[in-house]
Order: sequence, then C-alpha cells, then structure tokens
Amino acid sequence: MEYREFNKTGKKISAIGIGTWQLSGEDKNIEAIKYAIENGVNFIDTAEVYGTEPIVSEAIRDFEREDLFIASKVWPTHFHYDELIKACENSLSRLKMEYLDLYQLHWPNSAVPIEETMRAMEKLVEDGKIRYIGVSNFYLDDLKKAQSVMKKQEIVSDQVEYNIVTRDIEKDGLFDYCNKNGIAIIAYSPLSHGKIFEKSALLSDLQKIGRRYSATPAEMSLAWLLSRENVFPIPKASNVEHMKENVNSVNIKLNDKDLHFLSGLEEKYHVESIAKQHTK
Ligand code: NAP
Repeated sequence: MEYREFNKTGKKISAIGIGTWQLSGEDKNIEAIKYAIENGVNFIDTAEVYGTEPIVSEAIRDFEREDLFIASKVWPTHFHYDELIKACENSLSRLKMEYLDLYQLHWPNSAVPIEETMRAMEKLVEDGKIRYIGVSNFYLDDLKKAQSVMKKQEIVSDQVEYNIVTRDIEKDGLFDYCNKNGIAIIAYSPLSHGKIFEKSALLSDLQKIGRRYSATPAEMSLAWLLSRENVFPIPKASNVEHMKENVNSVNIKLNDKDLHFLSGLEEKYHVESIAKQHTK
C-alpha cells in the first residue's frame, strides 16, 4: 500500500480509502473492509446519516484503533452547538470509539450561523473527541467562510464528488484552491456511483487502455484519480472481489500518454455532480 500525507495534518494515510454509504452490513461487506485493512488501507469514511457506523465498528474490531484513520460526518440538521456535540457523541458511541480522526460537516447549512457550528467543531477538538475538522460538499465561498470564522483550528479537507467523468471542482476553482491552501480533497463517488459501468462506450475506452496494465475499468478510473496529488478516493465496495480491484488500483502507474487519453474522457462522457444538480 502507498501512504500519502493527509496534507496539513502531516499524518500518513493510505492513498485510497473505504466508502461505506449504502453498505447493508452483510458478512460480505465486513469481509471486504477487513480485506482492505489487512492489505494496508487504514482510512474509512462513514457518516451519521449512512447508518453504517455500527458496520465500521464491527469490521475494525480486530484491528488496532491507533493504526486507523476513521472519518465520520454530521448531518446539517445537527449544526446548532449542542446538537452537534451530541451528534458527535452519538457517532462515537455507535462506532464504539473514544475519538474520530476526522469529523466533517456533511453539507453546508445556511440556516445555522457558521460561527456557531465551527465553535462546536473546535470544542470537539479541544475535548479530544475529534482530531481534525473537515467539510464536505463545501464549494469555494462556503469553504472560505467556514475557515474565516475559526479561532484555533484549520479545515484540513473537503470531501466532494470527483471522478473521471465528474470534474466540476476543476472548473469552479475548488481543486486549485484546495491545493494552494493545503486542504486535502477526499474524492467521493470515485466510480461515479457505479455510472462508469453503465456507459458502454466509456467502458470500452477504459478497457482498451486497461489492457496495457491488465487492469479493469474500476482500476483504471481509480488509478486516474490517484495520479493527482492531494486527492484521496473513497470507493465503496460490497464484496472482496470489488475491494481487491480497488485496493490494487494504487499499484497502477499510468504513463503520460494514457493519462492524457483518460483525462479526455470527461469531455465525451461528462456526468454533472450532485452538488451542481442541487444548485439548479
Ligand atoms: P462509488 O464508490 O463511486 O461507486 C460504488 C458503486 O461501484 C457500487 O455500485 C459498487 O458495487 C461499484 N463498485 C465498486 N468497486 C467496483 C469494482 N471494482 N468493479 C465494479 N464495480 C465496483 O459510489 P459512492 O458509494 O457514491 O461513493 C463512495 C463513497 O463516497 C460513499 O460510500 C461515501 O462514503 C462517500 N460519499 C459521500 C458523499 C457526500 O455527500 N459526502 C456522497 C456520496 C458518497 P458493489 O456495491 O456491488 O461493490
């Protein structure tokens, strides 16, 4: 496994993480997470709203807590001070752990003053309940505003939709801003929520290049994301077979010509981000 610095935290985490949205908790899900950890993955993403914190707790039971980097998220309806503190405590109790490595605001919520929300996040760091503060689905204005009201801590990451066919963050300036300001980009839906497997022309383009690396379309898509610095993809896989491919994508180093070809696919097969659809 390759480990990369989680930007300004200085902490080394696996280049690829594990997404857990829509896992049902079947044995095969647990086996897949265990397989990933046994093969060096130490970064797992969950959220109070996913209902998968107990699944994560079960899957990591036999591993050392300190070796893992566990991230969860608070839903926007819990952004008032007391509710946010309580939401974090509830996540910790479902995860059966003393602290979270990363706690993220799941989406912005303009109905609650961001000063109040960030004050609660900073209090959680002060109390040792979380190590780092992150956000998710925050675009430039929200991200800058959230950082500007913080007193002691910094935002270390933004979790946003980013994959080979959804590259809105490159166009709206968020990608460059995060790189310039030391904010790690956690790429959610790195396989376009499975949509890359539904477009047959895209699939055959990925297969064509993949043959040179003996790699599947999933591996090629993830390898493309991993070729970018400061980007941590978190694919979700329900079984060991899928997880194996996703973990293996870290070993694929694309040459410049193939990278160029893959980077051109978005133009042909663009899928708009969920966040962009929301703002219409
Ligand atoms: P994704 O990881 O892009 O795609 C998951 C889909 O791809 C599933 O259908 C999965 O099937 C399939 N898949 C995975 N590996 C595969 C492989 N090697 N070969 C073939 N198919 C494969 O989608 P996602 O779940 O939307 O995103 C990943 C994670 O990002 C989530 O689990 C969550 O942690 C996070 N996320 C965050 C937000 C947010 O608002 N912050 C939003 C969405 C997602 P199987 O399940 O059958 O393996």
